[in-house]
Amino acid sequence: MTAASDLSSRLRFVLVRTSHPGNIGSAARAIRTMGFTRMDLVSPHRYPDREVTAMAAGADDVLDGARVHAGLIDALAGTSMAFGLSARRREVNLPELTPREAAAQALAAAERGGQVALVFGNERTGLENEELARCHAMVRIPSVDDFSSLNLAQAVQVMAYELRVAMLGETMPAPPPLHDEPPADAAQMERFFEHIAQTLDDIDFHKGRSPTMIMLRLRKLFLRAHMDERELRMLHGILADAQRMAQLANEKK
Ligand code: SAH
Repeated sequence: MTAASDLSSRLRFVLVRTSHPGNIGSAARAIRTMGFTRMDLVSPHRYPDREVTAMAAGADDVLDGARVHAGLIDALAGTSMAFGLSARRREVNLPELTPREAAAQALAAAERGGQVALVFGNERTGLENEELARCHAMVRIPSVDDFSSLNLAQAVQVMAYELRVAMLGETMPAPPPLHDEPPADAAQMERFFEHIAQTLDDIDFHKGRSPTMIMLRLRKLFLRAHMDERELRMLHGILADAQRMAQLANEKK
């Protein structure tokens, strides 16, 4: 079985476009209390800031190690699974999990050697649909419908707590690996989605319709498949051939 410290180092808490520095500090504290260390910040509005340090209440190691990124794609680099936390159900139509279900899946992925991200949105606007679309599943803390939005750091605390409980309860041996090859990471999946989008254009799949919905559905389908690098190379090969044939057909016209 993988040591708890190895497992926790494979989990990262990603805070996207956080407005209030106090929430970054409180989130660092929440992460630290549950035995995790890695926090990634995507375009925080005010950072570093005195309020961050004050609210972290000594979780300095989490703050010192926090990485700041310009975009979510950078923050997901190296991950093979991402969970987007959202108070609202969205039109992105992702599988929806409770924090407990997500914690079990996240741990299983980390046990298999993958890096896992838990992604949290801005205090007022939450995660953009485009950001959620980069996640494998959506996680909703089952709050009441007419007052569903938790404070950001409290949402981080709930998720960190569930991960901790799941780790403490881990008595089963690690599940066998699903892949002999390394799982495809977020950047590789993005390149693949760009390749499909380009190919669909090249073969005139859309015929004037908007590509947005079909791309969201394809993302959902392929993210669910948890592909490895070899499988991804094969699909790139198929797409490249389809593009080549489309080009030949165009030249004949
Ligand atoms: N109106 C926003 C609320 C933002 S609260 C929205 O609809 O998402 C800030 C962040 O805390 C959210 O982006 C989400 O990551 C997390 N959060 C708050 N309440 C949550 C809940 N009930 N379930 C899951 N995540 C929640």
